[in-house]
Amino acid sequence: MADLFDKLHGVLALAAAFDAGVERPLETVFERMLGPTVAEIQGRRTLVFGSNNYFGLTFHPEVIAAAKAALDRFGSGTTGSRSANGTLSVHRELEEDLARAFGRRHALVFTTGYQANLGMVSGLCTAGDFVLLDNDCHASLYDAARLSGATILGFRHNSADSLRRRLQRLPAGRNRLAVVEGLYSIQGDVAPLRELVNACHEEGAYLLVDEAHSIGAYGERGRGCVEAQGVADEVDFVVGTFSKALGGVGGFALSDHEALRGIPLLARPYVFTASGSAANVAGVCAALKVLFTDRTLAPRLWRGVHRLRGGLAALGYRVGESVSPIVPVTIGDRDQTLRAWRALLAAGLYVNLILPPACPPDSCLLRFSCSSAHTDAEVDEALDILGKVGAELGILQKTER
Ligand code: PMP
Repeated sequence: MADLFDKLHGVLALAAAFDAGVERPLETVFERMLGPTVAEIQGRRTLVFGSNNYFGLTFHPEVIAAAKAALDRFGSGTTGSRSANGTLSVHRELEEDLARAFGRRHALVFTTGYQANLGMVSGLCTAGDFVLLDNDCHASLYDAARLSGATILGFRHNSADSLRRRLQRLPAGRNRLAVVEGLYSIQGDVAPLRELVNACHEEGAYLLVDEAHSIGAYGERGRGCVEAQGVADEVDFVVGTFSKALGGVGGFALSDHEALRGIPLLARPYVFTASGSAANVAGVCAALKVLFTDRTLAPRLWRGVHRLRGGLAALGYRVGESVSPIVPVTIGDRDQTLRAWRALLAAGLYVNLILPPACPPDSCLLRFSCSSAHTDAEVDEALDILGKVGAELGILQKTER
């Protein structure tokens, strides 16, 4: 007979198989951070190439100072939602700073990026509407579409033609929201935003772009892929997170549409959850200032990207084609990838392990994310570890040298 815990027992058995070794890929414990790019894991110094700390701002002195000052001024938690007692002056300040930094009329701050997506899509759409999702969209966007009650349709990854065809088949007079990411979080590929914008305009759809991974790194002013591709004014909604480039926790939404101001009145993921703590929000305010004024950060990040990618390819790793701060390296089947991940961690290098359903079963990945805070010496040290582990496990392709 079916039991309530069947699903959990299944996933626990899978986890037990993974966790047979000392390292636990499903929940690696970072005992201490020794800076933005180095952690202590199982008591040993470990290089971190699997965070989303693209600019190393978690340890920036101005971020730490702002967070400490806000902790003293407001206390530890907000103990309430934005709609009740959880809106502090720092939340408002951050919304004003975000609107200014991104050149948008309106900005909203949510407790996480996940909730920003839930709040935006469910706040905009309802039963009878259509949400069209790129097939590679993040789980939060799928959950957001489900929460809205709208009809969900997928379209081929990064294909404006596929989106257009989908839109053309929809009944007239029904609301349509297309949802894509600027930079995709696993393969590190960028959306063809110009084509997607055109398809939406031609077929009467609104467009929402999740720039969780792209702010700071893309666009002349760091405003993301929408800026880099010259479509910022034509994209209706941008959502993002504080948990990557900005080194904090939280999410945001930006728009020039006046109606964005209505989201806090009805979006359940905004109304029914506590707001982000003052220390965190003030830290994000400071990080935003640093990110948008220190023009050395993005070039340093990209230099690291090229150094790491070049080194990986020279060693014989199968590096993905896209060139971005996210560097996917295909290893093969699940066991081999798990073995490689474990060996790297044991040798002092942490990266992200990507297994199905996040990738095809025979193309499991190691996902590297670069940071402007990685020094050349750290990149070289990582490559040294990768060379040794790759040779030991026989996972390197022959290179022409
Ligand atoms: N969107 C994308 C594309 C993401 O990769 C993530 C986080 N991995 C989120 C949204 C959610 O952000 P947060 O961690 O702030 O909840």
